[in-house]
Amino acid sequence: MANTLDAKKDRYNLVTVFFLIAALVIFGVSIIFSGSLLLTGYLKQGPSSNQSDNSPDTTSIASRPLTDNIAQHSLSTAIENNFGIDYDVPPEPQAANTVRIPVLTYHHIDTLPNSNSRDYYVSPKMFDEQMKYLSDKNYRSLTPKEFYDQLKTGKNPTHKSVMITFDDGNVDNYKNAYPILLKYGFVGVFYVPSNKRGMTNSQLQEMANHGMIIDPHGKTHMMLSKVTDSGTLYQELVASKINLQNVTGQISNSFCYPGCEYNGYVTSMLASNGYLLAFSCGKSIDHKLGSRLVLSRMHVYNDMQDFKSILSGKWYYPGGYSS
Ligand SMILES: [Zn+2]
Repeated sequence: MANTLDAKKDRYNLVTVFFLIAALVIFGVSIIFSGSLLLTGYLKQGPSSNQSDNSPDTTSIASRPLTDNIAQHSLSTAIENNFGIDYDVPPEPQAANTVRIPVLTYHHIDTLPNSNSRDYYVSPKMFDEQMKYLSDKNYRSLTPKEFYDQLKTGKNPTHKSVMITFDDGNVDNYKNAYPILLKYGFVGVFYVPSNKRGMTNSQLQEMANHGMIIDPHGKTHMMLSKVTDSGTLYQELVASKINLQNVTGQISNSFCYPGCEYNGYVTSMLASNGYLLAFSCGKSIDHKLGSRLVLSRMHVYNDMQDFKSILSGKWYYPGGYSS
Protein backbone atom coordinates (compact mmCIF):
# COMPACT_ATOMS: atom_id res chain seq x y z
CA MET A 1 0.00 0.00 0.00
CA ALA A 2 2.80 2.37 0.98
CA ASN A 3 4.61 1.56 -2.31
CA THR A 4 1.50 2.37 -4.33
CA LEU A 5 1.16 5.73 -2.56
CA ASP A 6 4.86 6.56 -3.17
CA ALA A 7 4.51 5.68 -6.85
CA LYS A 8 1.44 7.94 -7.16
CA LYS A 9 3.35 10.78 -5.42
CA ASP A 10 6.33 10.34 -7.80
CA ARG A 11 4.00 10.44 -10.86
CA TYR A 12 2.34 13.56 -9.47
CA ASN A 13 5.74 15.25 -8.99
CA LEU A 14 6.83 14.33 -12.54
CA VAL A 15 3.65 15.85 -14.07
CA THR A 16 4.12 19.02 -12.01
CA VAL A 17 7.76 19.37 -13.09
CA PHE A 18 6.73 18.77 -16.73
CA PHE A 19 4.11 21.54 -16.66
CA LEU A 20 6.50 23.92 -14.89
CA ILE A 21 9.19 23.35 -17.58
CA ALA A 22 6.61 23.76 -20.39
CA ALA A 23 5.37 27.03 -18.87
CA LEU A 24 8.94 28.34 -18.58
CA VAL A 25 9.68 27.43 -22.23
CA ILE A 26 6.51 29.19 -23.50
CA PHE A 27 7.26 32.24 -21.38
CA GLY A 28 10.87 32.37 -22.67
CA VAL A 29 9.86 32.01 -26.31
CA SER A 30 7.27 34.77 -26.06
CA ILE A 31 9.83 37.12 -24.43
CA ILE A 32 12.31 36.48 -27.29
CA PHE A 33 9.57 36.91 -29.96
CA SER A 34 8.23 40.22 -28.69
CA GLY A 35 11.77 41.48 -28.16
CA SER A 36 12.67 40.77 -31.77
CA LEU A 37 9.48 42.56 -32.94
CA LEU A 38 10.42 45.68 -30.98
CA LEU A 39 13.96 45.55 -32.37
CA THR A 40 12.69 45.25 -35.97
CA GLY A 41 10.42 48.23 -35.45
CA TYR A 42 13.27 50.27 -34.02
CA LEU A 43 15.54 49.47 -36.95
CA LYS A 44 12.83 50.37 -39.45
CA GLN A 45 11.75 53.68 -37.93
CA GLY A 46 14.74 54.82 -35.92
CA PRO A 47 14.42 56.29 -32.48
CA SER A 48 11.35 58.45 -31.92
CA SER A 49 11.80 61.90 -30.44
CA ASN A 50 9.97 65.20 -30.36
CA GLN A 51 12.35 66.63 -32.96
CA SER A 52 11.52 64.02 -35.61
CA ASP A 53 7.77 64.49 -34.94
CA ASN A 54 8.09 68.18 -35.80
CA SER A 55 10.53 67.93 -38.69
CA PRO A 56 9.17 68.70 -42.20
CA ASP A 57 8.33 65.94 -44.65
CA THR A 58 11.41 65.78 -46.83
CA THR A 59 10.22 62.75 -48.84
CA SER A 60 10.63 63.59 -52.52
CA ILE A 61 7.47 63.75 -54.66
CA ALA A 62 8.65 60.75 -56.72
CA SER A 63 8.92 58.50 -53.65
CA ARG A 64 5.57 59.54 -52.13
CA PRO A 65 2.66 57.11 -52.36
CA LEU A 66 1.15 57.05 -55.86
CA THR A 67 -2.18 58.42 -54.57
CA ASP A 68 -0.49 61.70 -53.56
CA ASN A 69 0.83 62.22 -57.08
CA ILE A 70 -2.58 61.42 -58.58
CA ALA A 71 -4.22 63.96 -56.25
CA GLN A 72 -1.64 66.53 -57.35
CA HIS A 73 -2.32 65.80 -61.00
CA SER A 74 -6.11 66.06 -60.54
CA LEU A 75 -5.66 69.44 -58.90
CA SER A 76 -3.61 70.85 -61.79
CA THR A 77 -6.10 69.47 -64.31
CA ALA A 78 -8.93 71.16 -62.42
CA ILE A 79 -7.10 74.51 -62.56
CA GLU A 80 -6.32 74.05 -66.25
CA ASN A 81 -10.03 73.60 -66.98
CA ASN A 82 -11.43 76.33 -64.71
CA PHE A 83 -12.40 78.86 -67.42
CA GLY A 84 -16.12 78.18 -67.32
CA ILE A 85 -16.61 77.87 -63.57
CA ASP A 86 -16.65 79.78 -60.28
CA TYR A 87 -17.62 83.37 -61.16
CA ASP A 88 -19.03 85.60 -58.42
CA VAL A 89 -20.77 87.80 -61.02
CA PRO A 90 -22.67 85.91 -63.79
CA PRO A 91 -20.56 86.29 -66.98
CA GLU A 92 -21.93 88.47 -69.79
CA PRO A 93 -22.79 86.67 -73.05
CA GLN A 94 -19.68 86.46 -75.23
CA ALA A 95 -19.57 88.02 -78.72
CA ALA A 96 -19.20 85.52 -81.58
CA ASN A 97 -15.70 84.60 -82.81
CA THR A 98 -13.93 86.32 -79.94
CA VAL A 99 -11.39 85.32 -77.32
CA ARG A 100 -12.29 86.26 -73.74
CA ILE A 101 -9.40 87.65 -71.68
CA PRO A 102 -10.02 90.58 -69.29
CA VAL A 103 -7.30 93.24 -69.59
CA LEU A 104 -7.09 95.34 -66.42
CA THR A 105 -5.93 98.98 -66.50
CA TYR A 106 -4.31 100.60 -63.46
CA HIS A 107 -2.53 103.97 -63.18
CA HIS A 108 -1.54 104.73 -59.57
CA ILE A 109 -1.28 102.17 -56.76
CA ASP A 110 -1.16 104.54 -53.81
CA THR A 111 -3.24 106.26 -51.14
CA LEU A 112 -6.32 107.83 -52.75
CA PRO A 113 -6.12 111.65 -53.03
CA ASN A 114 -9.07 113.95 -52.32
CA SER A 115 -9.28 115.24 -55.87
CA ASN A 116 -10.82 114.51 -59.24
CA SER A 117 -7.84 112.29 -60.07
CA ARG A 118 -8.85 109.72 -57.42
CA ASP A 119 -10.44 107.56 -60.15
CA TYR A 120 -6.89 106.87 -61.29
CA TYR A 121 -5.87 105.46 -57.91
CA VAL A 122 -6.25 102.05 -56.31
CA SER A 123 -4.94 101.81 -52.75
CA PRO A 124 -2.18 99.25 -52.04
CA LYS A 125 -4.56 97.46 -49.63
CA MET A 126 -7.29 97.20 -52.29
CA PHE A 127 -4.75 96.15 -54.94
CA ASP A 128 -3.55 93.37 -52.63
CA GLU A 129 -7.16 92.27 -52.13
CA GLN A 130 -7.74 92.22 -55.90
CA MET A 131 -4.58 90.18 -56.57
CA LYS A 132 -5.46 87.79 -53.74
CA TYR A 133 -8.87 87.34 -55.34
CA LEU A 134 -7.25 86.42 -58.67
CA SER A 135 -4.92 84.02 -56.87
CA ASP A 136 -7.75 82.39 -54.89
CA LYS A 137 -9.77 81.94 -58.11
CA ASN A 138 -6.71 80.36 -59.81
CA TYR A 139 -6.27 82.99 -62.51
CA ARG A 140 -3.00 83.19 -64.41
CA SER A 141 -1.57 86.45 -65.71
CA LEU A 142 -0.47 86.72 -69.34
CA THR A 143 2.38 88.58 -71.02
CA PRO A 144 1.47 90.43 -74.24
CA LYS A 145 3.13 87.62 -76.23
CA GLU A 146 1.03 84.99 -74.45
CA PHE A 147 -2.07 87.14 -75.04
CA TYR A 148 -1.20 87.30 -78.77
CA ASP A 149 -0.63 83.53 -78.98
CA GLN A 150 -4.02 82.88 -77.37
CA LEU A 151 -5.69 85.40 -79.70
CA LYS A 152 -4.25 83.54 -82.71
CA THR A 153 -5.99 80.32 -81.64
CA GLY A 154 -9.38 82.07 -81.87
CA LYS A 155 -10.46 80.20 -78.73
CA ASN A 156 -10.95 81.04 -75.09
CA PRO A 157 -8.14 79.89 -72.81
CA THR A 158 -8.93 76.75 -70.81
CA HIS A 159 -7.33 78.32 -67.74
CA LYS A 160 -8.86 81.58 -66.42
CA SER A 161 -6.53 84.34 -67.67
CA VAL A 162 -6.09 88.08 -67.30
CA MET A 163 -3.57 90.68 -68.38
CA ILE A 164 -2.66 93.19 -65.65
CA THR A 165 -1.50 96.55 -67.05
CA PHE A 166 -0.24 99.84 -65.55
CA ASP A 167 -0.03 103.15 -67.44
CA ASP A 168 2.32 106.14 -67.21
CA GLY A 169 5.43 104.76 -65.47
CA ASN A 170 4.52 106.18 -62.04
CA VAL A 171 7.08 105.35 -59.35
CA ASP A 172 4.31 104.04 -57.06
CA ASN A 173 3.98 101.18 -59.57
CA TYR A 174 7.48 100.08 -58.54
CA LYS A 175 7.07 100.83 -54.82
CA ASN A 176 3.56 99.48 -54.25
CA ALA A 177 2.32 97.32 -57.14
CA TYR A 178 5.47 95.37 -58.01
CA PRO A 179 5.96 93.81 -54.50
CA ILE A 180 2.32 92.67 -54.43
CA LEU A 181 2.61 91.16 -57.93
CA LEU A 182 5.70 89.25 -56.77
CA LYS A 183 3.86 88.11 -53.61
CA TYR A 184 1.14 86.42 -55.69
CA GLY A 185 3.37 85.37 -58.60
CA PHE A 186 1.66 87.56 -61.22
CA VAL A 187 3.16 89.30 -64.25
CA GLY A 188 2.49 93.04 -64.55
CA VAL A 189 2.69 94.81 -67.91
CA PHE A 190 3.97 98.36 -67.36
CA TYR A 191 3.30 100.88 -70.15
CA VAL A 192 5.94 103.53 -69.72
CA PRO A 193 6.51 106.81 -71.69
CA SER A 194 10.19 106.27 -72.47
CA ASN A 195 11.25 109.90 -71.86
CA LYS A 196 8.63 111.01 -69.35
CA ARG A 197 8.46 108.62 -66.43
CA GLY A 198 8.75 108.43 -62.66
CA MET A 199 10.60 105.10 -62.63
CA THR A 200 14.39 105.00 -63.05
CA ASN A 201 16.33 102.73 -65.41
CA SER A 202 17.46 100.53 -62.52
CA GLN A 203 13.89 100.15 -61.22
CA LEU A 204 12.70 99.11 -64.70
CA GLN A 205 15.63 96.71 -65.02
CA GLU A 206 14.91 95.13 -61.64
CA MET A 207 11.27 94.58 -62.55
CA ALA A 208 12.18 93.17 -65.97
CA ASN A 209 14.68 90.81 -64.33
CA HIS A 210 11.85 89.53 -62.12
CA GLY A 211 9.52 88.70 -65.00
CA MET A 212 7.64 92.00 -65.37
CA ILE A 213 7.03 93.41 -68.86
CA ILE A 214 8.04 97.02 -69.69
CA ASP A 215 6.47 98.26 -72.95
CA PRO A 216 6.10 101.75 -74.50
CA HIS A 217 3.35 104.28 -73.80
CA GLY A 218 4.83 106.71 -76.32
CA LYS A 219 7.94 108.79 -75.79
CA THR A 220 6.42 111.94 -74.26
CA HIS A 221 2.82 110.74 -73.59
CA MET A 222 1.62 112.76 -76.60
CA MET A 223 -2.00 112.23 -77.70
CA LEU A 224 -1.63 110.63 -81.12
CA SER A 225 -5.06 110.88 -82.79
CA LYS A 226 -4.25 114.08 -84.71
CA VAL A 227 -0.57 113.39 -85.40
CA THR A 228 0.24 112.55 -89.04
CA ASP A 229 3.88 113.69 -89.23
CA SER A 230 5.97 110.57 -89.73
CA GLY A 231 9.02 111.97 -87.92
CA THR A 232 7.00 112.69 -84.79
CA LEU A 233 5.23 109.37 -84.97
CA TYR A 234 8.57 107.57 -85.35
CA GLN A 235 9.82 109.17 -82.13
CA GLU A 236 6.68 108.31 -80.19
CA LEU A 237 6.16 104.78 -81.54
CA VAL A 238 9.56 103.43 -82.55
CA ALA A 239 12.30 105.44 -80.78
CA SER A 240 10.40 104.83 -77.52
CA LYS A 241 10.46 101.08 -78.20
CA ILE A 242 14.20 101.07 -78.95
CA ASN A 243 14.94 103.15 -75.84
CA LEU A 244 13.03 100.83 -73.47
CA GLN A 245 14.41 97.68 -75.10
CA ASN A 246 17.92 99.03 -74.46
CA VAL A 247 17.06 99.61 -70.80
CA THR A 248 15.40 96.26 -70.09
CA GLY A 249 16.96 93.89 -72.62
CA GLN A 250 13.43 92.74 -73.49
CA ILE A 251 11.69 92.86 -76.87
CA SER A 252 8.63 95.14 -76.66
CA ASN A 253 5.73 93.35 -78.34
CA SER A 254 2.94 95.73 -77.40
CA PHE A 255 2.10 99.43 -77.30
CA CYS A 256 -0.44 101.39 -75.28
CA TYR A 257 -2.03 104.60 -76.62
CA PRO A 258 -1.70 107.68 -74.36
CA GLY A 259 -5.23 108.90 -73.66
CA CYS A 260 -6.47 105.86 -75.68
CA GLU A 261 -6.10 107.94 -78.89
CA TYR A 262 -4.86 106.73 -82.28
CA ASN A 263 -5.42 107.06 -86.04
CA GLY A 264 -4.64 105.05 -89.20
CA TYR A 265 -1.09 106.46 -89.48
CA VAL A 266 -0.39 105.31 -85.94
CA THR A 267 -1.69 101.76 -86.34
CA SER A 268 0.11 101.21 -89.67
CA MET A 269 3.45 102.41 -88.27
CA LEU A 270 3.03 100.07 -85.28
CA ALA A 271 2.24 97.16 -87.59
CA SER A 272 5.38 97.75 -89.68
CA ASN A 273 7.69 98.10 -86.65
CA GLY A 274 7.35 94.76 -84.93
CA TYR A 275 4.40 95.37 -82.64
CA LEU A 276 2.06 92.40 -82.20
CA LEU A 277 -0.56 94.23 -80.10
CA ALA A 278 -1.69 97.74 -79.17
CA PHE A 279 -4.11 98.62 -76.37
CA SER A 280 -6.64 101.38 -76.06
CA CYS A 281 -9.53 101.67 -73.56
CA GLY A 282 -12.95 100.06 -73.64
CA LYS A 283 -15.67 98.15 -71.86
CA SER A 284 -15.17 94.70 -73.38
CA ILE A 285 -13.13 91.65 -72.39
CA ASP A 286 -13.77 89.87 -75.75
CA HIS A 287 -11.14 90.30 -78.46
CA LYS A 288 -10.51 89.46 -82.13
CA LEU A 289 -7.17 88.95 -83.86
CA GLY A 290 -8.25 91.48 -86.52
CA SER A 291 -8.49 94.14 -83.78
CA ARG A 292 -5.11 93.36 -82.26
CA LEU A 293 -3.89 96.97 -82.72
CA VAL A 294 -6.98 98.57 -81.14
CA LEU A 295 -7.67 96.30 -78.16
CA SER A 296 -10.03 97.06 -75.29
CA ARG A 297 -8.88 97.31 -71.69
CA MET A 298 -11.11 97.94 -68.68
CA HIS A 299 -10.32 100.59 -66.07
CA VAL A 300 -10.07 99.23 -62.52
CA TYR A 301 -11.46 101.30 -59.65
CA ASN A 302 -10.79 101.09 -55.94
CA ASP A 303 -13.70 98.70 -55.49
CA MET A 304 -14.07 94.90 -55.27
CA GLN A 305 -17.54 94.75 -56.87
CA ASP A 306 -16.18 96.64 -59.88
CA PHE A 307 -13.25 94.23 -60.04
CA LYS A 308 -15.45 91.10 -59.95
CA SER A 309 -17.74 92.63 -62.59
CA ILE A 310 -14.83 93.30 -64.98
CA LEU A 311 -13.75 89.65 -64.75
CA SER A 312 -17.24 88.69 -65.96
CA GLY A 313 -17.25 91.30 -68.76
CA LYS A 314 -19.73 93.61 -67.03
CA TRP A 315 -19.11 97.36 -66.91
CA TYR A 316 -19.63 98.65 -63.38
CA TYR A 317 -18.91 102.14 -62.12
CA PRO A 318 -18.71 102.18 -58.33
CA GLY A 319 -19.98 105.77 -58.03
CA GLY A 320 -19.22 108.28 -55.35
CA TYR A 321 -16.22 109.54 -57.28
CA SER A 322 -15.84 112.61 -59.44
CA SER A 323 -15.34 111.86 -63.09
ZN1 LIG B 1 -1.24 107.44 -69.97
